[in-house]
Amino acid sequence: MSLVSSSLRLGESMANNARKTTTSRPAAAAATKTTKTAASSAAKTVEETKKPEEPKPEKTTSATAKATTPKPEKKVEAEPAAKADAPMTSAKPEPTPKAGAVKPAKKAAPAAKKPAEKKTTRKAKASAAKAAEKKTAPAKKPAEPTKSEAAPKAVPAPAAKAEPAPKAKPTPAPKAEEAPKAEAKPAPKAEAKKPSPAPAEPKPEPAPAPEPNLPQPRRSVAFIGSECYPFVKTGGLGDVMYALPKALVKQNCDVKVIVPKYACIKQEWKDKMVYRGSFQMDLCSDGRSFYVGIMEYVSPSGVVYDFIDNEDFFSYGNPYTNLVDDIPRYCYFSKAALAALNYMGWIPDVIHCHDWQAALVPIFLKTMFQGTYLARSKTVLTIHNLRFQGKYNIPTIKYWTNLPDSVFNMGALQEDWTEANCLKGGLAYADMITTVSGTYAQEIQTPEYGERLDDHLRYYSWKLRGIVNGIDTEMWNPATDKLLDAPYSVDNFLDEKPKNKRALQEELGLEVDDSKMVIGLISRLTNQKGLDLVNDVIPGLIDGNTQVVILGTGDAQYEDSFRYYENNYKGQVCSNIMYDEGRAHRIYAGADALMVPSRFEPCGLTQLIAMHYGTVPIVRETGGLKDTVQPYNQFSNEGNGFTFDRYESGLLYDAVNRAKTLYFTNRWCWDQMVRRDMEKDVTWDKSAQQYRWLYLELTQ
Ligand code: ADP
Repeated sequence: MSLVSSSLRLGESMANNARKTTTSRPAAAAATKTTKTAASSAAKTVEETKKPEEPKPEKTTSATAKATTPKPEKKVEAEPAAKADAPMTSAKPEPTPKAGAVKPAKKAAPAAKKPAEKKTTRKAKASAAKAAEKKTAPAKKPAEPTKSEAAPKAVPAPAAKAEPAPKAKPTPAPKAEEAPKAEAKPAPKAEAKKPSPAPAEPKPEPAPAPEPNLPQPRRSVAFIGSECYPFVKTGGLGDVMYALPKALVKQNCDVKVIVPKYACIKQEWKDKMVYRGSFQMDLCSDGRSFYVGIMEYVSPSGVVYDFIDNEDFFSYGNPYTNLVDDIPRYCYFSKAALAALNYMGWIPDVIHCHDWQAALVPIFLKTMFQGTYLARSKTVLTIHNLRFQGKYNIPTIKYWTNLPDSVFNMGALQEDWTEANCLKGGLAYADMITTVSGTYAQEIQTPEYGERLDDHLRYYSWKLRGIVNGIDTEMWNPATDKLLDAPYSVDNFLDEKPKNKRALQEELGLEVDDSKMVIGLISRLTNQKGLDLVNDVIPGLIDGNTQVVILGTGDAQYEDSFRYYENNYKGQVCSNIMYDEGRAHRIYAGADALMVPSRFEPCGLTQLIAMHYGTVPIVRETGGLKDTVQPYNQFSNEGNGFTFDRYESGLLYDAVNRAKTLYFTNRWCWDQMVRRDMEKDVTWDKSAQQYRWLYLELTQ
């Protein structure tokens, strides 16, 4: 697996900013107005999200909100709280297909797919009128390439026909890239004629090894989130979206991961993707619809990755920019992910959403998709970081989702008189909420850590769980890590780990000396990470026997202060203001200790990786740090690291000094701790099992 280029991460700082912004932008509001006027009547187009094998004729288009919502809306309406449960119990009214059943993409849309390859490049921001025009409904309406709104119903018919010949299409667009170019215009009739050829690729089946000892029963899960290593990663979420599905496959889960197809995804990955189909999807309240392309990659691990393709929304270099763009982007993504599942006929037992970028999924599911097979799926929403909530003014979110007014109430999407909050709404509508450690699950129900959602979370505490993250030990394995000078294991770390320390000192221009204690810090440089404390203690740590190595990017104030220290303590402090996977690996291996003094930390991966690399963590007792690092007890010689509780620099200083004392005065005990850390189970196995139990509980 290749590493995410540093350029990908370039957006790190931008991302931080973007993710944290929460203000409302008049600009977008303005956009709302303009579009509204223009199109209003225009479009109720339609062919969109039609799920292929809809049995009932009435169930027109799922996305045509209006049509489907009425009934379910009422349900959800009143108190989202109560509502949330309702669906859980009532659950299966549908003539459901098999759990995890995988249906070839053939059906309905396919025919249209062909033309869909056109992939128009409409600007998301273009005026409604413009958009309406572009909205050329692919094949369905061969004759009228433009907005044949009328066509709606017609769609299903041709689709049905198309079915019979799902196989044979050698030609269809295998590669996403080319497909889009093909532009729709040319396609009109001719295309439509060939009904069958279009269907999406014969779905490459996941590769579930029918091992007899896999836990039963099998469950199917769709992960929906905004980033996933190795395609795109800006932090821990990317790691989790990569490692947890892999671990779930070993737990007998059939996992599909749905992420945006960002322009910044490396070409080598794009080349491996296969075109699965495309369609038009209604999205906005004025009827604007958008292209949804599905590109698929089946990894050797058995996890299937489906990328939502739309250049209007994902043509930027990195995932997060600013809320003005991110709100429309993830409104679109949340709905498109569901529509794609519907289109592919892949109805999972559980839809597992991650963070605010996918938090609208449970709401869409319980309103607009209520009349589809998907309605039987249960939803889990995982909070990876409560600080980022996706808040924006109500009219804008209404415009970009076309969700019914009923969900914009104080129990769900509405934050206050003017703002809507995507995460808040998702929490109300999800069947289950999880966060990434037990302690954080408790903390976020308090005003101190609750980011103003503590009361909301207390209200839903009955469906809130904490399951700690793990790390992927194939990706993070000091014994096989190709990025290290001297790979090592628990059997030979005494001899080999020091070689990595020397190599690191050399690489960073520090004094090369085994006897120096190297303390590392690998982090986004934001206010969350306790960097004020680090700034306070650095001068005190520099004593001629200690070296400090920092790796991170983020807020200018921290970048500058760490640069200052590097200048001031040449040869003893090295500040790497950058994102560099390779260097991160070498610091984990070469450092003796790693500081993680976070103000709050939902789970934290760096301390887990550090332990696995035999680097002793020095952490603040908060969130996942508290759950994963057992404080050292000098009397019993137990524990995994050094900890402190209150957010005070004096306490961090004390914890580091305790570590130094042990390191310099009792190396035998220190090395024993290193051994314990390396042997500690930080894999995903246990946590994946807990997620599996959760899925089973939801889908009894
Ligand atoms: P968060 O998700 O809050 O950023 P985590 O501890 O959960 O923090 O995950 C951070 C991940 O990002 C780890 O895999 C860590 O190694 C990696 N990382 C953070 N900063 C950098 C950097 N500057 N260069 C390379 N990797 C980094």
